[in-house]
Amino acid sequence: MRPGRLAGALLSAAAAVLALRAWPAHEASGSGRPRLILFLSIDQMRYDYLTRFAPLFKGGFKRLLDDGAVFSNALYRHADTETGPGHSVLLSGRSPWHSGIVANTWYDAVLKRDVNVVEDPAVSPIGGSGYGASPANFVGFTLGDMLKKRNPAARVVGISLKDRAAILMAGPRADAAYWFDTSRGSFVTSTYYVREAPRWLAEWNARRLPDAPQFRQWTRLLPDPGLYERYAGPDDVKAEWDGVDTVFPHLVREAPPSAKFYDDLRRTPFGDEILLEAALEAMTAHQLGADDDTDLLAIGFSSTDVIGHTYGPESQEVLDEYLRLDLTLGRLFDEVDRRVGLDRVVIGLSADHGAMPLVETLQARGVAARRVQPRELLDPVTRALDGRFGPANGLVARFLPPDFYLDLEAIARLGLLRRDVEEVARQALMETGIVERVYMQEDLLGDPPPGDASFALMRRAFYQPRSPHITVLLKQWEYLSERPGGTGHGTAWEYDRHVPILFMGPGVRPGTYAGACVPEDIAPSLAALLRLEYPLQDAGGVLTDMLRAE
Ligand SMILES: [Zn+2]
Repeated sequence: MRPGRLAGALLSAAAAVLALRAWPAHEASGSGRPRLILFLSIDQMRYDYLTRFAPLFKGGFKRLLDDGAVFSNALYRHADTETGPGHSVLLSGRSPWHSGIVANTWYDAVLKRDVNVVEDPAVSPIGGSGYGASPANFVGFTLGDMLKKRNPAARVVGISLKDRAAILMAGPRADAAYWFDTSRGSFVTSTYYVREAPRWLAEWNARRLPDAPQFRQWTRLLPDPGLYERYAGPDDVKAEWDGVDTVFPHLVREAPPSAKFYDDLRRTPFGDEILLEAALEAMTAHQLGADDDTDLLAIGFSSTDVIGHTYGPESQEVLDEYLRLDLTLGRLFDEVDRRVGLDRVVIGLSADHGAMPLVETLQARGVAARRVQPRELLDPVTRALDGRFGPANGLVARFLPPDFYLDLEAIARLGLLRRDVEEVARQALMETGIVERVYMQEDLLGDPPPGDASFALMRRAFYQPRSPHITVLLKQWEYLSERPGGTGHGTAWEYDRHVPILFMGPGVRPGTYAGACVPEDIAPSLAALLRLEYPLQDAGGVLTDMLRAE
């Protein structure tokens, strides 16, 4: 299917051994074309982290803020602001309605089970466990694919703690994607990319960096707790996580090789520090940026997401994670400068979605925020359907909160009209008082109703073969979860959609750009910097304001 891939992997492995000893010092070269696109996604990074923490940044974020183009009004324009959909947009320029990446998980009525966004039954995991992962569910192409189409010598690699981040940013034609398997504490890949683990990967995993003793306890980076108070408020906030482990220092639970330990490790800044080390090794192995054929390295930092979910955007933990990530990015940029020369590297940075502050923090400010339990939606719908159509009707095939998949076969078997079933569910949902609006597939396939500002967001997140039959938009400031603490994202509301977009490098005019833009603009804008033809697809346009006039 992809001839030459295995040979390429063997060559890469051989090259890696050489490159570990000596990376050729970069020289000024005549072609002027960037040697490397370095794209960074920061999972769950809200735009305001850039401004709130700006005075404290000394590393990579400071460099990007000082020398880069900063887009301050970039908002996703799809509902269902989850990790899979966000990452599928970042380097493709395609919205979920065209890429089919509508959620992290959807229900498959034929298989009668949930399907993970990067799950692919045709491939097997390499070095890990669980499902084999690939971009098979993604409909479309990425910037990396187009780079390789222009020049097959271009190398494209994605790496992240999360499979979906690495795979969806890298794209269908990528040379490799790597992600962290918490069952073993190793970086892994799948047979979609190679037949066996590349040697560099096996060797890197054998070093067991995640097991190192310095990763067992998380303390504040900076010595002054008062500074944390000023920038992030008190450490002891009961609405964080389990309501118990809410203050520094945080101990990672259990010890290697426990899966719980590796899972917890992602809840600390160490997850992203370990990722960086693996990414640099991948860069060496694949010789990214080593010659004039423009390569692409996409790195997805994900500890930010786990920490954000656990402690909330205004926590001392999120502040500390961003202070440490600032240093991690600084180290990355220094290393890329040493190897490639930053004057030959275009850097892009964005996020897959934002997040809502902790409900209790909002309430303390007078916002009518509230926590919602999934059963507050499921119970009324079940009661209403049972009341109207009889008990044990089996009409709901799957409830993936807050949305519903109906059993269309059951509807036919009972001789019902789908529209009648949906209407009963809609009424029950609206009567809960926590629902803003309910969308059936028929609604989303029809014309926009007047006065519905959310419709366009819901429509852009809708792909009929995978989307739920009943899509529920909760009211603003409601957080849906079974957990007692923490927070999250996933809605059509602005706090989940506002993300940073930054670029830095040759051809980029530094400054802050306040015009409205969308993450779909990233791929065609990077392509413009590379003089690579790339269709706009779902982008609003190329971000031409930041392009230097020649
Ligand atoms: Zn995410």
